[in-house]
Amino acid sequence: MNDESKVRPDEYRSGFVSIIGRPNVGKSTLLNSIVGEKIAAVSHKPNTTRNRITGIRSRPDAQLVFLDTPGIHKPRGALNKAMVHTAFDTLNEVDVVVLVVEAKSPFGHGDDYIIDRLTKPSVLVINKIDTVKKPALLKVMSDSQSYSGKFMEVVPTSALKNDGVEELIGIIINHLPVGPRYFPEEMITDQPERFIVSEFIREKIFNLTYEEIPYKTAVKVQEFNEVPGKDLIRISAEIYVERHNHKVIIIGKKGEMLKRIGSLAREDIERILNSKVYLELWVKVKGKWTTKTGIINEFGY
Ligand code: GDP
Ligand code: MG
Repeated sequence: MNDESKVRPDEYRSGFVSIIGRPNVGKSTLLNSIVGEKIAAVSHKPNTTRNRITGIRSRPDAQLVFLDTPGIHKPRGALNKAMVHTAFDTLNEVDVVVLVVEAKSPFGHGDDYIIDRLTKPSVLVINKIDTVKKPALLKVMSDSQSYSGKFMEVVPTSALKNDGVEELIGIIINHLPVGPRYFPEEMITDQPERFIVSEFIREKIFNLTYEEIPYKTAVKVQEFNEVPGKDLIRISAEIYVERHNHKVIIIGKKGEMLKRIGSLAREDIERILNSKVYLELWVKVKGKWTTKTGIINEFGY
């Protein structure tokens, strides 16, 4: 008898969970830790995540569908407006909201703004507990009492070290309705492979370039073909920048920057696709794309 058959259909729980919070608190890292694989782009810079990314976690007794969201911030420009809109939109679609804050600087105006808009059962996650000492953590936990009534539970985690994450999942399941299995058990995301590939490439650009460049860059996969008879996938992607001098920087001296971006991205892509990958990158200039709603939509943000 497998685990599956022990759970009666009227005891199987499922639902949708939004992960929300200010930029850089560790939302995407938490999503990756929950599904046990890297599917969302992570960087030390704020606003890496532009759309909602789905992560699916299945257990014998439950299935949780998580929506990672762009950080809530005061938006400037069309791209950022679309990002914040995406984050708030998810709040009405889900069964449970997970608000993530950082142990080091837990509550700010941005959080109050979000907390005032919570209408669904919510869990407060205090993340990055590996960066503070125990007394500081206890203080944060007791400060969070002033929001009592807003949150069903407060859960300390380190998404980076995989600490507290299983406890969080258990708590969320307690607040999910009885429901169907929405996705096959082995599925960890509903994002198309092409999109995840473009996110990995974009993540490397976020990690390797500076100032405005990461924020003015988009990536689109143009070609994604399995080579018949070989354990090999050929991928060709275009990197869009706003200005010629950004193109020069992303390509680098003798193409070295682009090579680094490509080989780091390829490692992540090969892991998630479980196949050898041949990755080709092209850099193109698309003037002022971050201000043009049509192009923003075309890129899927
Ligand atoms: P997001 O903007 O909220 O999605 O944040 P990310 O997941 O992109 O993470 C932002 C930064 O915080 C990255 O450099 C992560 O490695 C780091 N980070 C995330 N979770 C933790 C954690 O639990 N502990 C520590 N020390 N760093 C973390
Ligand atoms: Mg993120």
